[in-house]
Amino acid sequence: MKDDVARARALIAAADNVIVIAHERPDGDAIGSLLALNLSLQRMGKGSVPVLADGLPRTFAFLPGAQQVTTRIPDTADLLVVVDCSDLERTGFKAGAFPRKADINIDHHPTNTSFAQANLVYPRAASSTQVLYDLAPRLGLPIDLDVATNLLAGLITDTIGFRTSSVTPAALRTAADLLEQGAPLADIYERSLNVRSFVAARYWGRGLSRLRMDGGVLWTSLTLADRRAVGYSGSDDADLVNLMTTVEGARVVVIFVEQPGGKVKVSWRAREGLDVSRLASRFGGGGHVPAAGATLEGALEEVQARVLAATQALLETTKAGER
Ligand code: 5GP
Ligand code: MN
Repeated sequence: MKDDVARARALIAAADNVIVIAHERPDGDAIGSLLALNLSLQRMGKGSVPVLADGLPRTFAFLPGAQQVTTRIPDTADLLVVVDCSDLERTGFKAGAFPRKADINIDHHPTNTSFAQANLVYPRAASSTQVLYDLAPRLGLPIDLDVATNLLAGLITDTIGFRTSSVTPAALRTAADLLEQGAPLADIYERSLNVRSFVAARYWGRGLSRLRMDGGVLWTSLTLADRRAVGYSGSDDADLVNLMTTVEGARVVVIFVEQPGGKVKVSWRAREGLDVSRLASRFGGGGHVPAAGATLEGALEEVQARVLAATQALLETTKAGER
């Protein structure tokens, strides 16, 4: 990894025009990493373009540099940096859509496939922005107030406000450092984790009305019809899965979000050290031990049956003490 950091530093130093990209259906860590790195590269005097396949969600429009995000990959670049993605497909683009191969991969997912020339992957980091913060001095990346704000946004959202098992003393020290540099912690927390639209709350209602629990597995679905009925414009679960994890007795939480074109996005959340990342990997996805996801082909009912059977099986083996 030391070699990879040196290689990444050299690649950054030599580059003039950079493409930075994060994952589809971006969360706060994808966006925070993307914007922090993009602004930092620009502070170094480089050209840099931040790309998101799905564009920028409205929730994160308040972050510095957010208005620069584009859905179009530039035709040329001399450096491609991929952040918060465990594989290249996670960007939402095929490899052929990029003008070059991935040069640098900055991530914290244990399921990362090390797909770039320089792979900066630290699974123990609480967020990809934590990785960026830790490596910034060695990569020669400057951190100003705008960069710090984006870094803190990634850390706050990926730890759901510092309450996940991924929170380490280092994560809290990083937050303290960024706060000291002026990053508005309370404001970021409020805007990215607390506030939701009326429409999103009604969307939750549709999912909550179908909530089911069976043998420690709590699940529900959100359909295309639900989105139409309430006028929700996103293709995600509006963070309903995190609300579901507050239900007592739920050892694993699963949500099925129907997508256009016969696909279903599945998200798992687990307690008690149960590993849902391997489950997600088996279905072509990935993630962390307690939080993972995958997109499956098939009709909602069919995907639901398949995934619930596999999830129940995981609980069975864990009961038998094979955790
Ligand atoms: P969520 O279920 O909230 O979308 O994501 C939970 C975790 O799993 C996040 O760390 C996210 O990056 C990861 N994840 C979600 N969907 C996928 C997927 O389709 N592929 C991979 N590799 N990781 C995913
Ligand atoms: Mn992410």
